[in-house]
Amino acid sequence: MPADLELNLTLYPSPFLRRVAPVVKTFDEGLKNTVTNMLEVMYKNGGVGLAAPQVGLDLRLLVINETGDREKTEGELVLVNPTITSRKGENTLHEEGCLSFPDIYAEVSRPDACTVKAQDVTGAALNLELTGFLSRIVQHELDHLEGILLVDRMSAGDKLRNRAALQELVDTYKQGL
Ligand SMILES: [Zn+2]
Repeated sequence: MPADLELNLTLYPSPFLRRVAPVVKTFDEGLKNTVTNMLEVMYKNGGVGLAAPQVGLDLRLLVINETGDREKTEGELVLVNPTITSRKGENTLHEEGCLSFPDIYAEVSRPDACTVKAQDVTGAALNLELTGFLSRIVQHELDHLEGILLVDRMSAGDKLRNRAALQELVDTYKQGL
């Protein structure tokens, strides 16, 4: 991908968000540029994580910065071909948002800790033990690679509470077809 290519957010209910993203096999300059562009979209939209399908890219690729602050580059985490190898700890409820669901928030139950196997942008192996907010972000973003979305994890009550906002997204999507 050229370094200056503009990526746009893919919003619910685009069927693209429902695809299972295929494995990344090529670790080249193009992948590095894709990561740079995805980080830009994430920061610009005030996110803490972004999965490639959320910008219309068919790749098992996540970018994360739990601080959401572009100045704090030490917080940046790039996960290529991630898989969760174990989930541990108590299930906790925490409010989540999603760049594919603007202005929608819902309480989602997830285990507090997980271990993740992935590759970095050069293809080197990563093994991470995560807890707390970072563990939650990774679990949320990894859902995207399987076509699982915030709306699937919402309680019936949260779905009802967000019904108007969800319908608005559906209407906007249909208008764009
Ligand atoms: Zn999301």
